[in-house]
Amino acid sequence: MDARMKPVAIVGGGWAGLACAVELANAGVPVTLFESAKQLGGRARRVDWNGIPLDNGQHLMLGAYRETLRLLDRLGTTNLLERRPLELIVPGFRLRLPRLPAPLNLAVGLLLAEGLGFKDKLAAARFMNILKDCAFRLSADEPASSLLQRHHQPAMLVDKLWAPICIAALNTPLDQASAQVFCNVLRDSLAGERADSDLVMNRADLGRLVPDAAQAFLVQRGSQVCLASKVERLERRAGAFILAGPNIEAPRVVLAPHPARLPDLLMDIPEMSTAVRQISTYTWQPILTLWLRFSSPPAFSFPMLGLGGSQAPWAFERNNLSPGLVALVVSAEGPHLAKPAEELKDEYLGLLAARVGPLPTLLDWKTIVEKRATFACVPRMARPDNATPVPGLYLAGDYTAGDYPATLEGAVRSGVKCARLILDKKT
Ligand SMILES: Cc1cc2nc3c(=O)[nH]c(=O)nc-3n(C[C@H](O)[C@H](O)[C@H](O)COP(=O)(O)OP(=O)(O)OC[C@H]3O[C@@H](n4cnc5c(N)ncnc54)[C@H](O)[C@@H]3O)c2cc1C
Repeated sequence: MDARMKPVAIVGGGWAGLACAVELANAGVPVTLFESAKQLGGRARRVDWNGIPLDNGQHLMLGAYRETLRLLDRLGTTNLLERRPLELIVPGFRLRLPRLPAPLNLAVGLLLAEGLGFKDKLAAARFMNILKDCAFRLSADEPASSLLQRHHQPAMLVDKLWAPICIAALNTPLDQASAQVFCNVLRDSLAGERADSDLVMNRADLGRLVPDAAQAFLVQRGSQVCLASKVERLERRAGAFILAGPNIEAPRVVLAPHPARLPDLLMDIPEMSTAVRQISTYTWQPILTLWLRFSSPPAFSFPMLGLGGSQAPWAFERNNLSPGLVALVVSAEGPHLAKPAEELKDEYLGLLAARVGPLPTLLDWKTIVEKRATFACVPRMARPDNATPVPGLYLAGDYTAGDYPATLEGAVRSGVKCARLILDKKT
């Protein structure tokens, strides 16, 4: 038997585990995927709200999400996306990138940006040029706020443009966020090809985008998807792995759980102590989504609207899930999490009304807080590789070594990379 065709067990059915499974199954490798929850999707999944399908949290993708878009293409679900040229609208500020070739799109976009003075525009253009000159590689990592300060970015520009981009992308407050990862995000979005900066929004629940279609894809190819099947620990026995819990033996294993679960899974594998130590230093950042159900759709000028500067919520119209549905999403930790849910809802309704005008009757609302939504993306993080010192064992997930913060694209890239490592292995 070709060694590359030996079966693979995958632990975790988030987007990393699913991307890995789809890539392997597509190449004819038999896969068994174990997911502890009753459904697939992990941190990007469907949630039922009295018969209305919601996302566990509002997500946003970019045109630069190449591997995610390739996965959706393979699964036949790109028709569930809406793609628009980047447009950031927050009170007192509007940046719209025109459909011009890069870098003209950014230059013209900045020049025409509403709400910025000429000095602010010049400072933004100068900052982007300095980063381009060093190919977006910093000699040393530091907090994003220090980088912006060193480059004399005016407070107004930071509040309206840089802070919202950094907090939304890295899910980490500006004074803690890695400047290097922030630069990676700017490189692949604002400074990338024209289409890379496109906003890509799901116009169906996240479950339909990847988890449902991936499950059907895997089953059709003879792979197995085991739901409500928690793997407790990994053990090594005679050149193979035992997955304690389902008690299955597998010659090759991809671990793709939330990184916080890895130390328990790996407690009997001493060779993995470096990765476990790295992950033990991580801290986590939350994301709050407030779902609002109105009697009819509020008047959105664009599907995504900022309701303030820095860490204020972003509002998304989600009529595609149910007419009159709106998601308000707030990234990272902050004082909002200490407020009673009812008070926060009233405060955010006020912000929304200030942006879109009088609101229709509110029928219902629901807050979802994902406490460990992402790792805190701080400077100089040690992130483990996909390949491990243990032959046949691989790690997949948004936290593995890579350029991106914890994102769908980071997760999918990681899963695909694991699959390619496995497929390239001859022994
Ligand atoms: C509210 C919210 C909003 C977000 N917004 C964005 C956004 O706008 N754009 C963006 O790109 N990213 C966003 N993200 C981040 C993105 O969702 C994650 O980076 C990505 O989903 C992580 O995927 P993953 O497969 O690496 O991990 P996970 O999704 O955590 O998947 C791990 C899976 O493993 C399972 N599992 C864990 N332990 C075991 C075990 N012992 N046995 C079996 N199964 C196990 C879990 O149940 C889970 O299904 C957001 C995240 C959240 C929570």
